[in-house]
Formats: sequence, structure tokens, C-alpha cells
Amino acid sequence: MSVIKINMIYTELLDIPIKRPHQFSTEKVLEKSFVLIKIELSNGVVGIGEGTTPGIWWNGESVETMKLVIDKYIHPLLINEDITYIERILQRMNRQIRANSFAKATVEMALFDALGKLYKVPVHQLLGALYQDRVPVRWALATGEDKGDIQEAKACIVNNEYVNFKTKSGKEPPEDDAKRNLRIAEGINGISSIGIDPNGSWDRNTTIKWMEHFFEAGIDFLEQPLTPYDMEGAAMLVDMKKVPIMADESLSTVEDAYTLAKEKAANIFSLKIHKSGGMKNTIKIAGIAEAAGISCFGGTSLESSIGTAACLHAFVTISNLDFGSELFGPRWLADDPVKQPLTIKNGFIHIPDKPGLGVEIDEEKVEKYRRKEQGEVIV
Ligand code: MN
Repeated sequence: MSVIKINMIYTELLDIPIKRPHQFSTEKVLEKSFVLIKIELSNGVVGIGEGTTPGIWWNGESVETMKLVIDKYIHPLLINEDITYIERILQRMNRQIRANSFAKATVEMALFDALGKLYKVPVHQLLGALYQDRVPVRWALATGEDKGDIQEAKACIVNNEYVNFKTKSGKEPPEDDAKRNLRIAEGINGISSIGIDPNGSWDRNTTIKWMEHFFEAGIDFLEQPLTPYDMEGAAMLVDMKKVPIMADESLSTVEDAYTLAKEKAANIFSLKIHKSGGMKNTIKIAGIAEAAGISCFGGTSLESSIGTAACLHAFVTISNLDFGSELFGPRWLADDPVKQPLTIKNGFIHIPDKPGLGVEIDEEKVEKYRRKEQGEVIV
């Protein structure tokens, strides 16, 4: 095959409404913003990717910073490069641009989509091939109060949509949060279970105090209870040998994974392709977890079917994804900018088998949700 080069890169911002307000520890969101990237090859094949973050509070990046970093700094590194040299492109990106992992993951996604389409194979075949073709999905209860969360969980079970759940915490003082979570666990006792995610907003003393109660209530895991800077505190919680401790905000890079493993500061790694700079890094992190006896959980940055497909292509190659995933992004959004959204059925998300990421952009929806420039006339 003759050399196929990268010809053009386009980015644009989309704002897509969500089905119901989502309460994080720091803010309530009503819509989700995305940067959409298209990478066009010299033979006309177009790879797509999507960047998004829970919010700028999460790690300092936003869709606006991602777009700027891609347009101004990554774009020149890609033009005229041979698409088959993705690892070399990624290494060059890392040397020339520090941090900005969400922006890098967005680019990597489009590179692999393009390469998969070129070779006519799904991305998971380029990443290491299948371990499984579907992954369990845990739904996030985030109505903001216990009764609403219990009701929502029961409805999901009755409708055969999701089997177990995660709660968002951190809006209230830790003590109240702990009690609210125990009420939710009690409310669905015998039919389901929850993991708790305070997004780093709890303190050591409160977490230690309530650990025994969480253990008895059958809480599946505590995700990033303490600030990501408190690795010693996380190691203390792991040492209690009660509820498994998951690292999320404290785990981004491959090096973070090594440090967490060495310091025995996590029982579970929350894998997310955006925070780790892409699918390849995510799989490397799963390898470190495997060596250290740490389980993995397929985390989300609440992507549409485009980004969720990329997460899934990485996750289906990982054998120690013991805690399933939270890849419910496409169901959480009120609309999905693709022609055929990913299939989430009976608590599982299924891997598409078409070439590349296996999802196709719906240009009408992209136009509908495209962020209009100031002063732009909307017709
Ligand atoms: Mn989290």
C-alpha cells in the first residue's frame, strides 16, 4: 500500500442538552459541551473523534482549551504524517505539548478511527483484540436526593435497564453525605448495590469513621473519597481492608498508575481514556493494575456514542475490568450526534463491529448543536 498521509484536520464545538440536571460535587450541569474532530487522509478516508470533560473543575481542561491546543499546537504536528505511525505521532505530541491529556485523547481517537477505516477493521483489533464483546454498565444516580435516587434505581431495575449503580456525592458535608448514601443502599437492599463517588470531597476522619458502616451496607466501592493529593490517606483506607478504594482523579498518567500501585493506595483503577491521553495509555495502565493485583473499572467522561465507542474499544481488550463500566454517556444525553447510537441493553453496552470506531456522524445533528460564533446569523 502506498503511504497514506494526514491531509486536513477540522474541529468544532457542540453543545448537547442532557436529559435531566446532573449534580456533581461542585456544579449542576444542564448541557454537555464537546469538541468534535475530523482527520482527513490523503485517500479521502475521514477519522472522527470527540473530546469532552465533566467540567473544567475536573482537571483544568475544557472543550475550549482542547480546541485551541488541537488547532494551534497539534495540527502542525500531524499534517503530512503517515497515518500508520500513530505511536510515533503520539510520542511527538507528548514531547512537544505538556499535559492536555483530554485534547491528546481526542486526536488519538480520530487517528485510530481513520486507521481502522483504512484497514477495514474495528479499532479494538488494532489495540490488542477482544477479551469480551460487551461490558456491564453501572448507572449514576444523581438526582441530588436519596428518595429520588432510590426511585430511579428501582425504575431502572424494573425496566431491566441497569443492574447496579453509582452515586455522586460531595455537595453536602461528608457526614450528611455518608448518611444519605447509607439510606440509598438500604432503600435498594436485596435488589441492587451502589458505589459512592464523592469526587475527592471527603476528609480522612469522616471516611474512616463511616467505613465500617459502608462495609456492612454492602457498598461496592468508594471512588476517590479523598483529595487526589492525599495518597497517604488513600493508602490508609486501603489498609483498612473494608470497602475497596477506587482511584479516579488521582490516576491520569501511566506514571500515576505505577505510583498508586507502589504506594498501595488503590484497590481499583477507574480507567478513562480522556484523562489518560488516549486508548493506548489506558491499556498500559490496565497492565500495571494487572501486575499489582488491582482491579479495573471502565470510567467515563460522559461522552456521546463517538467517545463512548472509543472507551469501549479499549475496555473490551482488557481482561481485568472486574468492576464493569459506567459507559452510560449516550443514554444520559438528550441527543447523540451519530446516526446509530451504541446499543445499551439489559445492563450491558455492546461493541460495534464496523471498521474504525464503528459509529457515523449525523451531520444534521452536528449542525443543530454546533456552537454558533458570536454575531453569526442563525437561519
Ligand atoms: Mn469519579
